[in-house]
Amino acid sequence: MNDLVTARVITRFGADVLITHANQTIRCTPKRKLEHIACGDYVTWEENAQGNATITTILPRTNVLTRPDFRGKPKNIATNIDLVIIVVSWRPSPSWEMLDRYLVATELLPAQALIVMNKADLADEYASADDLKCLAEYEHIGYSILYTQAKEGSGIAALRAAIGAKTAIVVGQSGVGKSSLAAQLLPEQEIRVGEIADTGEGRHTTTNAMLYALPEHGFLIDSPGVRDFSLSAVTREQLQQGYSEFRPYQFQCRFNNCTHAHEPHCAIKQAVAAQQLPPHRYERYLNLLASL
Ligand code: GDP
Ligand code: ZN
Repeated sequence: MNDLVTARVITRFGADVLITHANQTIRCTPKRKLEHIACGDYVTWEENAQGNATITTILPRTNVLTRPDFRGKPKNIATNIDLVIIVVSWRPSPSWEMLDRYLVATELLPAQALIVMNKADLADEYASADDLKCLAEYEHIGYSILYTQAKEGSGIAALRAAIGAKTAIVVGQSGVGKSSLAAQLLPEQEIRVGEIADTGEGRHTTTNAMLYALPEHGFLIDSPGVRDFSLSAVTREQLQQGYSEFRPYQFQCRFNNCTHAHEPHCAIKQAVAAQQLPPHRYERYLNLLASL
């Protein structure tokens, strides 16, 4: 049998991987040179005469989420991510600097970002005027914001619609409601775990990233490691590239290596002064820049 077919990697499973193809879950052994295969990869595979399935190639990726392993070497965690859902809440109170870091990391991945303000029910009690201003700035520069109450299930239909046929991950600080949102998106998650248990390895207790199919043809990739996605060490150029609102002003500063901090004739500083760019975001940019 030599017909090559495209499938998608659900998760790594020891030396093997589980792939999904035509609604079936198949256990495959990657060829040895494909050691870096990861959750979310599109692959070709074939079945040999003995009935064993082999991954033959990994198709080109749009992006790769990596994490340093215990030796500090980057390890592939997940691939082909279209959408990063960044969850914030009113309690724990939002850290806008952390949200900026998530947005920069998302822009650099690169992937689309969606801000989800969960626990919308706590806004009246906890959202300060300053916080509301900060939140409005993100919308002003073009980021979409969805309001959800994961406990009640409200806003989930809009979240599903925003994911559509995309492959999404959910990130955010602890306690904002990531698990609750994932549970709302994946009511049948337990079934998937059960299916994997049938492959003879006992319960699937690994913390490897997992690909979950959503009813709307999209996918959610999830694991503790994926939720911990954050901004790694970046250069100044990368940091600036991560600020999507700076893009229209690219090449307009007097100095082409302008840091947008102290230089004269800086298009970014002028745009902030003219209220064309949001001031709180810019102040936090200066903090992040100083921390590099
Ligand atoms: P995670 O750490 O980001 O995964 O957050 P969890 O999903 O575990 O949620 C943390 C806490 O927030 C839990 O006690 C949830 O019940 C609660 N929670 C989740 N969504 C909402 C919401 O919309 N409103 C309120 N008031 N609480 C919520
Ligand atoms: Zn500048």
